[in-house]
Amino acid sequence: MMTAPSFDRIGEENAFAVLARANALAAQGVDMINLGIGQPDFPTPPHIVEAAVKAMRDGQHGYTAATGIPQLREAVAGDLHRRFEVEVNPDNVLIVPGGKVTMFTAIMMFGQPGVEIMYPDPGFPIYRSMIEFTGATPVPVPIREDRGFAVSAEEMLGLITDKTRLMILNSPANPCGGVTPKSEIDKLVAGLETHPQVAILSDEIYDQMLYDGEQHVTLLSYPEIRDRLILLNGWSKTYAMTGWRLGYSVWPDDLYNKARKLAVNAWSCVNTPAQFAALEALTGPQDSVAEMLAAFDQRRKVVVELANAMPGVSCVVPKGAFYALPNIKDTGWKAKPLASELLEKAGVATIGGPDFGILGEGYIRISYANSEENIRRALGRMHEFLEQG
Ligand code: PLP
Repeated sequence: MMTAPSFDRIGEENAFAVLARANALAAQGVDMINLGIGQPDFPTPPHIVEAAVKAMRDGQHGYTAATGIPQLREAVAGDLHRRFEVEVNPDNVLIVPGGKVTMFTAIMMFGQPGVEIMYPDPGFPIYRSMIEFTGATPVPVPIREDRGFAVSAEEMLGLITDKTRLMILNSPANPCGGVTPKSEIDKLVAGLETHPQVAILSDEIYDQMLYDGEQHVTLLSYPEIRDRLILLNGWSKTYAMTGWRLGYSVWPDDLYNKARKLAVNAWSCVNTPAQFAALEALTGPQDSVAEMLAAFDQRRKVVVELANAMPGVSCVVPKGAFYALPNIKDTGWKAKPLASELLEKAGVATIGGPDFGILGEGYIRISYANSEENIRRALGRMHEFLEQG
């Protein structure tokens, strides 16, 4: 069949392929430990589940507005105000089926042949995949280990050309756990003043997952770029709701209607009971968020300590999200073959750094969204594997 060439340019998220292979091996009886997929190992808090059940029982079975139920859009604005003291008009909030949908929409909105879109490398693989789908030129922004995997404003600004239409930022970051400090964001925003044609997509889906007392800096708090800022966020990570497919975005006035029209065309609205669960997540007790974060923090320390003890491995302390990106350059292994051998021979699922971009070579991603016991067992196996050469 003669399909559009753009479909041959769509990439993958290898974490899903690794998950499928890990599950297949487990089904054959292999004792598999999955440090590959990026999803909290906790169940969705019960009061959130109950809100969805209640919505179903109350007959919330129909379509909603394509933009989401008004009380949820208000709750999103309220939550952003409570956490960051920023003013967001609920009319600029779009409820979408998952964090990915905002990146899809934003990249589709700006991407076309002849324009450039900047994205972090290593970074979430869907950014590049979608940029290529649109025919735009992907411009990787290096995320360097020697900067603690934080973005360099100077380097990023230096990559802007007159063809740049969109830049994607992600802090706290997947796959490296880096957090870009306020000083760098200040510099970046100041530098953007001379590039009014560049829109910004800020992926802040890990904004509640910071450690060591670090405070999240949202790009919403910079009024000078609010007219070209798209915020990506959602419930998947913070509330352990990856499978519910729930996200939200904040759009400037003149982009909002374009995004809304795509919603009407593509998904009509987000699953209605899920929207009521999302409302409960934002307005109900927040204890579970703090509890999950405390568990991730403890595991983070275990991962760093055990990874640094492995022969040829060094691991920067991640400041956010639930990923570590150990450097394996001195092990003699390339990242993808190592991840593959660990999966097939040691029963440990990880993701090779090149699945997150060219600059991911020499690293493997460890998701510590697993129990401390499993993390200790998995990293013990990795240690043994590397020792045996
Ligand atoms: N953005 C980043 C940086 C992510 O790591 C992920 C998921 O792993 C997403 C967005 C997508 O989230 P969702 O599962 O809500 O689509």
